[in-house]
Amino acid sequence: MVTDTRRRPLRDLRISVTDRCNFRCTYCMPKEIFNREWEFLARDELLTFEEIGRLARVFAGLGVHKVRITGGEPLLRRDLEVLIADLSSIHGIDDLTLTTNGSLLARKAETLAAAGLDRVSVSLDSLDDDVFRAMNDVDFPVARVLEGIDAAAAAGLTPVKVNAVVKRGVNDHTIVEMAEHFRGTGHILRFIEFMDVGTTNGWRLDDVVPAADIVGAIHAVHPLEAIPPAYPGEVARRFRYQDGAGEIGVITSVSNPFCATCTRARISADGFLYTCLFANKGLDLRPLVRSDMSDEAIADVVGQVWASRDDRYSEVRSEHTDGLPKVEMSYIGG
Ligand code: SAM
Ligand code: SF4
Ligand code: SF4
Repeated sequence: MVTDTRRRPLRDLRISVTDRCNFRCTYCMPKEIFNREWEFLARDELLTFEEIGRLARVFAGLGVHKVRITGGEPLLRRDLEVLIADLSSIHGIDDLTLTTNGSLLARKAETLAAAGLDRVSVSLDSLDDDVFRAMNDVDFPVARVLEGIDAAAAAGLTPVKVNAVVKRGVNDHTIVEMAEHFRGTGHILRFIEFMDVGTTNGWRLDDVVPAADIVGAIHAVHPLEAIPPAYPGEVARRFRYQDGAGEIGVITSVSNPFCATCTRARISADGFLYTCLFANKGLDLRPLVRSDMSDEAIADVVGQVWASRDDRYSEVRSEHTDGLPKVEMSYIGG
């Protein structure tokens, strides 16, 4: 097991399998930037499933036990279940999950579950159709995401987590409605503070609704109480309904950063290793996996990168972060 300069072990790995997406969420891939001129990665730049599998084994050997597949929209990657089947067979990886916008989930949930996927997180920012269509900016309806969530639950990809990014003046008036919809369903609704990932989403601190206000709004209608994290380093702060109707979570990346317990590494779709969501520089692993280097030698390199890790961006961010070079969320994977 390796630890970084702040004594944080390497426990989680997020793997982006594509930088493409069929949505244009305004906070992630604004249309004005991610348009026809935007150059997405070419197919031969993407890590192959074999290369991803090999890297995942190397990371498992270094202490990773949790793997999340993300993107872009991961379900756009063809035959993803083949990768899932391989990853689910890796010794030491006991939690295999995927984050998706849910648009293709109704069709794919069964196959993914059969391949060995444990759970899914589905992003859904509002139940108000007009609000949601405006936020995904491709006019995608709420109902089809809800179908995806139902299909995931029916396939046993449970508990389903539903992630909603909250942006002031955009969807914050629909928070309580969301909470009421998912209360008592067994799904875990989690509200994410709008973050300053990348440089294209026009982030301003004023647009962030602090998690305390989100919890307060729900608590006023359906009383909540804080509960401890499910495991050390859990990103969300958890609350349960006092009447037993389940739990919610809030991801307080801005109002209450959790860098001190951050044990996550990320691999972009083209094989760069990043040790922080807000990094501007990664290590290109592709030449390593495409050379005749042994797994042990690759593990040494990754171990050294982790050992020298000092990241704690969210703890030191300032009000204006637009001048900083940072990679985009759709590229690094959320
Ligand atoms: N396309 C998939 C999806 O939307 O679930 C997976 C990739 S997406 C980049 C992963 C997560 O990041 C989503 O839950 C999304 O809402 C969240 N996200 C994207 N941009 C964000 C931002 N600026 N602040 C907070 N969360 C963000
Ligand atoms: Fe696509 Fe997910 Fe980003 Fe929305 S949040 S644009 S669905 S990658
Ligand atoms: Fe981890 Fe970087 Fe996020 Fe802090 S800012 S929690 S170090 S990814």
